[in-house]
Amino acid sequence: MRDTLPVIGFIGLGQMGQPMTRRLIGAGYTVRGADLSAAAVDAFAAAGGVACASAAEAASGAEILITMLPTSAVVREALLGAGAAAASLAAGALVIDMSSSAPLDTRALGEDLAARGIGLIDAPVSGGVPRAITGQLAIIAGGDAALIERARPVLLAMGKAVIATGALGSGHAMKALNNYVSAAGLAAACEAVIVGGKFGIDPSVVVDVLNASTGRNNSTDVKMKPFVLSGSFASGFSMALMAKDIRTAADLAAQLDLPAPGLAAAADLWDRASISLGKAADHTAIHQFLAGLDTGEE
Ligand code: NAD
Repeated sequence: MRDTLPVIGFIGLGQMGQPMTRRLIGAGYTVRGADLSAAAVDAFAAAGGVACASAAEAASGAEILITMLPTSAVVREALLGAGAAAASLAAGALVIDMSSSAPLDTRALGEDLAARGIGLIDAPVSGGVPRAITGQLAIIAGGDAALIERARPVLLAMGKAVIATGALGSGHAMKALNNYVSAAGLAAACEAVIVGGKFGIDPSVVVDVLNASTGRNNSTDVKMKPFVLSGSFASGFSMALMAKDIRTAADLAAQLDLPAPGLAAAADLWDRASISLGKAADHTAIHQFLAGLDTGEE
């Protein structure tokens, strides 16, 4: 058994990357971090991380490189684009893409990295910012079983469970499918509040009844009162990223020649909401979009 911890490079120090790197630093890892935002790198350095000026610099000397970036395209660019991080990695290094990426893109990336002697697993997460802070994320891992085992101690510094789903890309497929189910539960709860409210039922009573009944889901439980009924719309997960995840799931169904009409409708709804509410919107603001349809304010 080795007695030193691997050096970790980490690209993407956003809403999730900040608390995730704090967990790694707290577990004793040396973490070399990079982000396009100087403010994000400063916050990371203040928490004990090694600030790097580029993705390539963060990868330099790292045995394990983690990406926590918005999309597959950004992950590919950071790893293989100009000033590529992959060029700084030694053969035998392992890349863990913890972003919510598109499964077929992940498979293509795996082939390109393998040609350089670099391993790849996908290990997207569920639980959002609160569970990233407490290290309680659910981590959904796809790829070679031996590589997942190698990554497991690092992943368990950030999450409470690592669920292996099969071949490379399967974690990303499951993450997208999970978020479709989660988003459908949130939109349904918002519609129940809007319809019930117009019929004269107090919104908090609507949520209480759902939570005591079979309509209960994660959104009725932990999102509706704190982020929707309060009017804060500040859960820490953007609408643009949620719309991307549902579109990823819908694209996967289409690539597999499956109709999945509920998924197609959800992808369209969330795309429209994301365009209408703009980049800064939180995903819980789907309520405002749905309420606006009633008044023709889309
Ligand atoms: P975010 O937008 O807060 O953070 C992304 C970070 O990446 C930003 O700081 C941005 O500056 C940086 N970045 C973008 N392009 C870059 C590049 N080329 N090089 C270096 N840095 C770059 O997003 P987030 O909420 O932290 O989400 C990150 C990923 O995790 C996404 O794929 C998202 O879908 C997924 N996710 C988010 C949550 C959540 O609750 N926020 C939960 C689960 C999964």
